Amino acid sequence: MTAQDVLQQYFGYDTFRKGQGELIAHILAGEDTVGIMPTGAGKSICYQVPALMLPGMTVVISPLISLMHDQVAALRAAGIPAAYLNSSLSAEAYRSTLSDVYNGRVKILYAAPERLETESMRNIAKEIPITMVTVDEAHCVSQWGQDFRPSYLKIASFLEQLPCRPRISAFTATATKEVCEDIVRILGLHKPFTLTTGFDRENLYFGVQQPRDKFRALYAIVKKRAGQSGIVYCISRRLVEEVCEKLCANGIPATRYHAGLPDEERARNQNAFICDEIPVMVATNAFGMGIDKSNVSYVVHYNMPKNMESYYQEAGRAGRDGSPADCILLYSGQDVRTNRFMIEQSSENEMLDAAARARIRSLDEERLRLMTYYCTRQECLRSYMLRYFGETTENYCGNCSCCRTNYETLDMTIEAKKIVSCIYRLHKRDLHFGIGGLTDILRGSQADKYTRYRFAETLSTFGIMQETSEKLCREMIRHLLSEEWITQSEGKFPVLQLNMNSVKLLREDCRITINVVKEAPPEAAAVSADAAVDPALLAALKACRAAIASKERVPAYVIFTDATLRDMAAKRPQNDMGFLSVSGVGRVKLEKYGDAFMKVIRENT
Ligand code: ADP
Ligand code: ZN
Repeated sequence: MTAQDVLQQYFGYDTFRKGQGELIAHILAGEDTVGIMPTGAGKSICYQVPALMLPGMTVVISPLISLMHDQVAALRAAGIPAAYLNSSLSAEAYRSTLSDVYNGRVKILYAAPERLETESMRNIAKEIPITMVTVDEAHCVSQWGQDFRPSYLKIASFLEQLPCRPRISAFTATATKEVCEDIVRILGLHKPFTLTTGFDRENLYFGVQQPRDKFRALYAIVKKRAGQSGIVYCISRRLVEEVCEKLCANGIPATRYHAGLPDEERARNQNAFICDEIPVMVATNAFGMGIDKSNVSYVVHYNMPKNMESYYQEAGRAGRDGSPADCILLYSGQDVRTNRFMIEQSSENEMLDAAARARIRSLDEERLRLMTYYCTRQECLRSYMLRYFGETTENYCGNCSCCRTNYETLDMTIEAKKIVSCIYRLHKRDLHFGIGGLTDILRGSQADKYTRYRFAETLSTFGIMQETSEKLCREMIRHLLSEEWITQSEGKFPVLQLNMNSVKLLREDCRITINVVKEAPPEAAAVSADAAVDPALLAALKACRAAIASKERVPAYVIFTDATLRDMAAKRPQNDMGFLSVSGVGRVKLEKYGDAFMKVIRENT
C-alpha cells in the first residue's frame, strides 16, 4: 500500500495537506525528521501513516497522559492497532496491553516520557523491534521553549539503550531557532529532514478587544454563538471558577477545568465538553494540549497569555476541522502585571542553576513584551503573528480585528491617475494647490474661492472624484505622497508636485492599493459552517453519532468529526462507494458505521 492508500483507507482523506506527504516520504526513506506545523495542521497523520507502513512498532512519546486515551480511541475506531502505557491504567489493563505488545498486536504505542525509565518499557525496548520513535510536542525538550518538561530529557537515554537505533520523528508547533536546535541536539537527531509548513490558519479570525468590563464582553461573544463549542481561557484558577459561575448564572451552560480540581471532576468536565454535552469550557492553560476536538468554533482569552507561542497554540484549538472560527483576546493592562508576576514566580525552578534561571527569565520577559505588542497594535494581527513565527507576509489579511474593524484594502489605481492628471493640468495653467485645494477641485467644489478659475468649463478633471468622500480623497492623496508617487513642496503652505514616478503612473501599468478605515466595523466572523447543509439531516446524523458514541463510550469526534458529518449531509451517499467518498470515512468506518448513517440519510431524504 502507498501512503496515499493508507490515508484513504484508514483515515478516509483523499489528499495530504501541506507538508504531510513530503515528511512521510522522508520518514519512509529512513531519515530522522522534524515537522514544524501549527496546531491543527495535521501533525498526527505525518507519523501515523508511516507507522502503519513500516515493519515493527512505533513508539509515540506524548506529554499528557490524560489525553492518550482519546488519541488511542480515535485510532482504534479507524481500525488501527494502537495502545498506550501510562500511570492511569489499572494493573490489569497494563498487563493486557503489554501482552498485546509482545504478541505483535500493537503498531503504535503511546507512552508518557516518565514511562521510558520503567522496567516494562526497557524490556519492550529489548525484545520488540521498534522502527520509529516519534516525539510529539518536541519543544518540551528545550529550556528555550515555552513549556519545558524535564521528563523529556529522558528520551535521549531511552533511545541510546535500544539495540537498533530507530528513525526518529519529532513534531512541534514552536518554530524558534533555539528550540529547533535543542530538539536536534538533545534528541540526538542525525541530519534530520526539517520541514516547516506555513503557520497561517486561514479559517481563523483573530481579534483583540480592550473592554472596560471583560465579563460583559465575554458574555456578548458567547451569547452570539449560543450552542456552538467554545473555550474560554483564564489566567488563574480563581478566575476560571468565577467566570464559569457567572456564565452559568447568566444561563450559559459552561464547565471548568484547572489543575486544582480533583482528577475525577476534571475528567468528567473534559468529557462533557468533548462529547458536546456542555458547549463552553472555562479553563486555565492546563486544558487542551493534545485534545483533538475538531468543532471548537471559538476560543476567547479572558486574559492575555504569557507569549505568542502559547497564544497561537491555544487559539489554534479553534476550527481544526477547517471551518471558520474566531479567536478573540480580551486585553487589559492588568494582564501584563499578572504575567510579569507569574514569570517571577516560575523562575524559582530548582532543577536549574542560577544562570539558566536568569536566562529563561529574561527570555520570558522579552516574549511577554512581544505578546503585549500584539494586543495593542493597530495593524494586521495575523501578519504580526506570522512574522513572529518567521514568515514574511503582507500587512493585511482582511480577517482580523485590525483589518476588519479598521481597514479594508481598496484598489485606487484609477483614482491615483485622476489625482495625478489633475495636478498635471493645473500645473499647465501654473496653478498650485495643497491637499485640501486639490481635494476640493477633484470633488467639484462650488466654493467661491474657485469660481474665478471657471474650472467647471475649462478643467476636464474638475469634479471627476465627485463620488469619493472628502475624507477618502484626502487619504488617497496622502497615500500617494507616502508612497512617493507625488511629492510636496517645503514650507508653510506646501503644494503638490509631480515627480518621475507620477509620469510612470500615468503611462505604465501599475496597481495601487490603499488600506482605509471602514465606515461600519463588524464585530467578528463565525458564520456557522453548519448553515450550508440541510439542518434536519445534519441534526439526525449528529443524533446517530451521539448514540453510537455513548454506546462505545468514546467522544463523538472519534466516530466522525463535524466536518465529516457535514460532507455526508451534502453528499447524501446511498451506497458503500458513495459513503467512502465522504471526507473522513475510511474502510473500517464504512464497515462499522456505514449502514447506520445511510439509514438515517434514507429516512431524512
Ligand atoms: P495537530 O496535531 O497538528 O494539531 P491534528 O493531527 O490533530 O493536528 O489534525 C487536526 C485535524 O485535521 C484532525 O481532525 C485530522 O483528522 C485532520 N486532518 C489531518 N490531516 C488531514 C488531511 N490530509 N485531510 C483532511 N483532514 C486532515
Ligand atoms: Zn489582518
